[in-house]
Amino acid sequence: MILGIIGGGASGMAAALAAAENPGTQVVLMERQSRVGRKLSATGNGRCNLTNTNASKEHYHGTDSDFAKPALDGFDTEATLSWFRGLGLCTVEEPSGRVYPYSDQANSVVDVLRLALEKPNITLKTGFEVQKIRKDGEKFSVTNGEETVCCDKLIVACGGLAGTKLGGSLSGYQLLGKLGHKATRLRPALVQLKCGWNGIAALKGVRANCSAQILHDGEVFAVSSGEVQFTEYGVSGPVIFEISRDVCQGPGKWTCQMDFLPQWDANTLEKELLRRTQMALPMDDILTGILHNRLGRVLTKAAGIKGKLKAAELTDSERKELCRAVKAFEVELTEPMGMDSAQVTAGGVLTGQFDPNTMESRLVPGLYACGEVLDIDGDCGGYNLQWAWSSGRLAGLHAGKGSV
Ligand SMILES: Cc1cc2nc3c(=O)[nH]c(=O)nc-3n(C[C@H](O)[C@H](O)[C@H](O)COP(=O)(O)OP(=O)(O)OC[C@H]3O[C@@H](n4cnc5c(N)ncnc54)[C@H](O)[C@@H]3O)c2cc1C
Repeated sequence: MILGIIGGGASGMAAALAAAENPGTQVVLMERQSRVGRKLSATGNGRCNLTNTNASKEHYHGTDSDFAKPALDGFDTEATLSWFRGLGLCTVEEPSGRVYPYSDQANSVVDVLRLALEKPNITLKTGFEVQKIRKDGEKFSVTNGEETVCCDKLIVACGGLAGTKLGGSLSGYQLLGKLGHKATRLRPALVQLKCGWNGIAALKGVRANCSAQILHDGEVFAVSSGEVQFTEYGVSGPVIFEISRDVCQGPGKWTCQMDFLPQWDANTLEKELLRRTQMALPMDDILTGILHNRLGRVLTKAAGIKGKLKAAELTDSERKELCRAVKAFEVELTEPMGMDSAQVTAGGVLTGQFDPNTMESRLVPGLYACGEVLDIDGDCGGYNLQWAWSSGRLAGLHAGKGSV
């Protein structure tokens, strides 16, 4: 039995290795880039956050996020880590539950997978960009325009549109589309958000802990806490990624409100500011020692306080305003950065057209899909790669059944 797999990314490699456990299956893995796992090697800022020990269904989204359950239950974090250990990868878990390779190098993950693919019943074709799939009776023929691969079953593991520079493309949606599969609208997720406030540029490079909420027309849309990173255009960092999904996707006013001192209530902060008015401090430094200097100055300015004054001159109403700036700093959001900056695609090929227990198409027998091309996306923290491993393995195990 010949199984074709399109896409040598996280889910395609997991599928290939699962299918190849059946010695009667000959796997042909086709990857358009010159090497497998290109995006994988850039994940987690080059460290690859390969899974999360808190993985559960709540961390996944999509039109029907329940679709992900059989795959995630069948190959959970523990099973994934033990599989990777078997491939030779040592890992470490951070207190947040995020798991990284012990080497701290995403390439270690790619390397163990690449080495594992060197099996007699796996043929790897890199630089092979599939342009067309044809179903001739029971068989599939897959071509890059010059060479055609014929197979009995086929897995589409082309990934999503996010991370365009690392290989994200529309290819998977288009190939599946030609076979009758429909996709939802695609949106960038786990992405930086642009702000409509010019003053943000003064904070470029500043990182701060905060509790952040996205407000849509004044109503709370999403909440999280962690590190925010300011960029030239807006806000980024883990806390923003967490709450970026579907922000600015509808009309109305979108804002991001940040509390830079969530561990202090307003009263505690007011008392501390009052104490500081008795110190011989320039107003510009009234938050020095509490917050990043640059952030402290921007917040003082945003509260309408003149930096040239002495802290002793802070009035009661200015103190309250400063307190508000520290605990409820609000910036208007205009749009998310594009797909090239996003880590994952929200939306994808309709999951209702696939069987969640096998990942087989309900429209085209023998055709399977896995990974980001499907309408499932996870939170920030290793959940997207876990979906790639779990769905890839499930597709590989089922598509790889049968013999020559
Ligand atoms: C910068 C960045 C950092 C990230 N960090 C993390 C992280 O730390 N943890 C986490 O869980 N997730 C992370 N993600 C998300 C995660 O990488 C993806 O969700 C995951 O790789 C999806 O796996 P996949 O197999 O579906 O797609 P991919 O890994 O994208 O693989 C798809 C493969 O298919 C190939 N392909 C596409 N079309 C064709 C074609 N027509 N013919 C042949 N080959 C084709 C592509 O070249 C690609 O290699 C990150 C994403 C980005 C962009």
